[in-house]
Amino acid sequence: MSREEEIKKRRTFAIISHPDAGKTTITEQLLKFGGAIREAGTVKARKTGNFAKSDWMDIEKERGISVTSSVMQFDYAGKRVNILDTPGHEDFSEDTYRTLMAVDAAVMVIDSAKGIEAQTKKLFQVVKHRNIPVFTFINKLDRDGREPLDLLSELEEVLGIDSVPMNWPIGMGKNFQGLYDFTNDRVEVYQPTDGERFVGLSEVTAGNHTLANNPFYTQAVEDAELLADAGNQFDEEKVISGQLTPVYFGSALTSFGVQTFLESFLEYAPEPHSHKTVDDEEIEPLNPDFSGFVFKIQANMDPRHRDRIAFVRIVSGEFERGMSVNLVRTGKQAKLANVTQFMADSRENVQNAVAGDIIGVYDTGTYQVGDTMTTGKLKKAFEPLPTFTPELFMRVQAKNVMKQKSFHKGIEQLVQEGAIQLYTNFTTGDIMLGAVGQLQFEVFKDRMEREYNADIIMTPMGKKTVRWINPEQLDEKMSSSRNILARDRFDHPLFLFENDFALRWFKDKYPDVELKEEFSV
Ligand code: GDP
Repeated sequence: MSREEEIKKRRTFAIISHPDAGKTTITEQLLKFGGAIREAGTVKARKTGNFAKSDWMDIEKERGISVTSSVMQFDYAGKRVNILDTPGHEDFSEDTYRTLMAVDAAVMVIDSAKGIEAQTKKLFQVVKHRNIPVFTFINKLDRDGREPLDLLSELEEVLGIDSVPMNWPIGMGKNFQGLYDFTNDRVEVYQPTDGERFVGLSEVTAGNHTLANNPFYTQAVEDAELLADAGNQFDEEKVISGQLTPVYFGSALTSFGVQTFLESFLEYAPEPHSHKTVDDEEIEPLNPDFSGFVFKIQANMDPRHRDRIAFVRIVSGEFERGMSVNLVRTGKQAKLANVTQFMADSRENVQNAVAGDIIGVYDTGTYQVGDTMTTGKLKKAFEPLPTFTPELFMRVQAKNVMKQKSFHKGIEQLVQEGAIQLYTNFTTGDIMLGAVGQLQFEVFKDRMEREYNADIIMTPMGKKTVRWINPEQLDEKMSSSRNILARDRFDHPLFLFENDFALRWFKDKYPDVELKEEFSV
């Protein structure tokens, strides 16, 4: 197969949802159809931590699911599918946002009883901002939920996206009978006792299939007619540009409607797309030079090894084992020798990773989140990944002064992972950490202890408002009891203001000093 054909069969996406909508369950079903796992329950058990660590490693080996199932790859219907996992907890939304920069499409899972929830809405905004296609899966049809028409209008009203149903529920909850599959003109019968699960609605069977006289079927047909008259028409271009979301109903837990969804999704989901550089140049996937960017860095699962994995989305070209790349940030060459791919049955070997794929590069501190790597004529960095200004702060110290070295090493590496932000007090040199949510601090503390053997003391500083200032305007005298003058990890100066009042007071006192929400000169 030519490289071009290889690239064109890639489908790389993430699933976005509010916790408990069924993301894990549907992921498992997809992996099962892809032959990547034999039983459902595996991903779930990992998520809840119901496995002892050794079990975890064994299962990893046995089923070959990738490092921490951050990326799951399988083949289905001639396509190579990459699912990128996004952490569900809202404290990790920053990580989620960056992962969404590495996908070409998103699947939005919605609980039919709850409709659109807070986290879904937030994630959808990011996806919408990128204009990538969104496919909606309305889950838990085996339970009583809201009216399907009601759910569709919520998509339009709350998210502002047009929707087009690809199938339609026949009953719901106790009365769930199946799905009327518009695309394939068939009925998918729920729990068929005998006979076919899929009943084609040809002229012959239209009037005499199992559900033909069922009132819920009659209702579904009426709804379908209404939708055909008054609803949106399917339009592939609008789907691809993110203006229209195809909606699929189903029940992930009972694996109902999931395979139909997968097949339809793979038919319409886009091939790998181009990425913009800082110079506004679009790098096409078929560009023969290799390029990619690091969207996530994760510590190895085994705490005895401090190496980490840098997840790289390949933007163009093809990965070759041992290849040297130019790391744009440093201008230095880096050899990609120890690289893993996330294919279900061959975790160790990168067989052929091309544009659209994700590779895991073993890293001992070379890479940072957002790094661009290139070869050949490509030299420019890709547009920066979004970063979020932290609001919560902690002062940290090593508990044991004799262990300063591991303390600093741990901080440096975890900060490079993008897990947490580092600030240093300009005058005292005290180390302060900033995060979007409390959980990030807890994970940080735990990892410092387990992975770096560095016990730390964290002193909460509460909420702060961060503002960067131009280094040329910096005057240490501007620091007062209501603000802290600090530098970020790139040595850019900034103030941490106690509250908005302190910020306003500062602005009144120093009207000429520019305060920025992000560093720029
Ligand atoms: P996540 O937090 O989005 O990953 O959600 P999970 O996949 O862990 O599912 C949350 C809960 O909903 C679990 O108890 C699942 O068993 C349940 N669940 C998921 N899909 C369905 C479904 O289709 N029907 C029903 N009844 N329950 C479901």
